[in-house]
Amino acid sequence: MRENDININLASPRDVVALLETNEISPNKKLGQNFLIDRNILNLIVDSAALSGTEHVLEIGAGLGVLTEQLLEKAAHVTAIEKDSGLYTLLNRRWGNNPKLTLLHADALEADLNALIENGITKLVSNLPYSVGVRIVIDVASSATPPDTMVVLLQKEVGERFVAKPGTNDMGIVSVILQQLYDVKIIRNVKPSCFYPKPEVTSVIIRMNRHERFPLTLGKRQNLQKLVQEAFQQRRKQIVSSMRGAGNNVARDADFIRSSLEKCGISATSRPEELSVEQWVKLSEIWF
Ligand code: SAH
Repeated sequence: MRENDININLASPRDVVALLETNEISPNKKLGQNFLIDRNILNLIVDSAALSGTEHVLEIGAGLGVLTEQLLEKAAHVTAIEKDSGLYTLLNRRWGNNPKLTLLHADALEADLNALIENGITKLVSNLPYSVGVRIVIDVASSATPPDTMVVLLQKEVGERFVAKPGTNDMGIVSVILQQLYDVKIIRNVKPSCFYPKPEVTSVIIRMNRHERFPLTLGKRQNLQKLVQEAFQQRRKQIVSSMRGAGNNVARDADFIRSSLEKCGISATSRPEELSVEQWVKLSEIWF
C-alpha cells in the first residue's frame, strides 16, 4: 500500500481502512476523526463550493485528504491545516510537492487564522472536527476579511443553530454572528454511514454565501458580537432586566435599554431569541 498509495481511492471504505492499517493509524475520537467515505457527499460539498479555478481555499482538518484532493483539482491554491502528526505525515508524503498546496501541521484553534485568511483566502471548504467546528467557523467569520463562501460538514444539531430563525430555541449567538454576514443554508443531511468510523450523530452540509445587507466595519462587527454574547447569557430573561448587569462594558441602565429597544421597534418585554438579525444590528449601533 505504501509504495503505490498514489492509486488509493480515498472515498472507498476498503482503501481507507487499508491505508490506516498499513500506516498504523487508529482514528482518534478526541480529534473528531471521522473520514468521509461517500463519493456523492464529497461531490456535493465540492459542487456547493462552486469553485471556478481562481480561488484560494482554506481546509481545516484535512485528515487523509479526500477533500483536499478534489480542492487541489478545482481551486488555484489550497491551504490545508491538520493537527494530527500521523495524518500530516501521510498528507505531506502524498501532496507535499504539489505547488498548489500549503500544508500546515497546526492546531486551527491556535493558528493565526486571521493572518492566514487576510493572505488571500476566499473560501473555506471543510469536513470539520465536530468538537471544535463551531469555534472554527466563528473564528473564520470574525476575521478581518471573512471568506465569500464557506461550505462545511458538521453535526446537524450545530447546523440547525447556524440557520435558526427568531423565536426558536436554536436562535442564538452563532445564528446572529453568521447570518449578519452570510446567507446560510442546509444543503443536505449526511448519514453516519458516510464516514469511517461512523460518528454517533447525523451531519449536515452547510453553505454560507456572503451578503451585503448589513455592511459593518470590523469594529462594529465586534461590538455586535459583544452585545449578543452578553444578551444570550440569560436567554430566558427579558433584555431590559438582564442587560443591566451585563459584563464586558456592555451593561446599560434600564432607561437607556428601554429607549434603545423602542428606537429599534423592539418590545420592552422581548427576550434575546425573539430579535431578528436586523434588529440586533440596529440595536448594537445605538448601544455603542
Ligand atoms: N477532512 C477529512 C477528515 C475529517 S475528520 C475527511 O473528510 O475525511 C476531522 C479532521 O480534523 C481530522 O483529521 C482531525 O485530526 C483534524 N483536527 C481535529 N482537531 C483539529 C484542530 N484543532 N486543528 C486542525 N485539525 C484538527
